[in-house]
Amino acid sequence: MDGVLLVLSGPSGAGKGTVCRVLLEKQPGLHLSVSATTRQPRSGEVDGVNYFFVSEEQFKNMVAGQELLEWARVYNHYYGTPVRAVQQALARGEDVLLEIDVQGGLQVKEKFPMAVLIFLLPPSRAELAARLKGRGTDSMEEIERRLQWADTELQYLERYDYVVINRQVAEAVVTIQAILTAEKCRPRRV
Ligand code: 5GP
Repeated sequence: MDGVLLVLSGPSGAGKGTVCRVLLEKQPGLHLSVSATTRQPRSGEVDGVNYFFVSEEQFKNMVAGQELLEWARVYNHYYGTPVRAVQQALARGEDVLLEIDVQGGLQVKEKFPMAVLIFLLPPSRAELAARLKGRGTDSMEEIERRLQWADTELQYLERYDYVVINRQVAEAVVTIQAILTAEKCRPRRV
């Protein structure tokens, strides 16, 4: 039986990164897809671990060669999911986690209707703004841009299968694990 393809999306500041990290610790065997991106590595990020850092030309070649399951332009950079690793892991029966934006999530659902789309939300917009400011990594202009983009992303909420509110990371992770367990019990998967 193929594994479950889980997509986790949500506004920047919702805590996707932390939730994914803890989920991967708690759910051994869950395969995290490593995306390709044209953005520069941040300090501490490792090529091939956090992302495959590629040039725009390399990225365009990946698109042309149909090497990406989905791709999107997010905050002026390109991001995409290498399709082969995802297909291979699913075929081995492993569950696969994609941490991607809403544009990408909807493309995945088109190609893989069995994919399970989860939208992670912060408890409130005020909390989202506070988290973005608290990170201290972005300028006020960038924070404003991310908040506006969060409003755009929210319009697609209803096309997702589940919404998880990230009040506490541990609680959000347990909820996602419950979704995964339930999805494995669907008759069409058994
Ligand atoms: P960051 O640059 O902060 O790592 O990621 C910025 C945004 O790009 C996040 O919302 C993240 O979910 C999204 N993202 C990361 N990888 C991919 C991908 O492969 N495809 C798409 N569509 N979005 C991605």
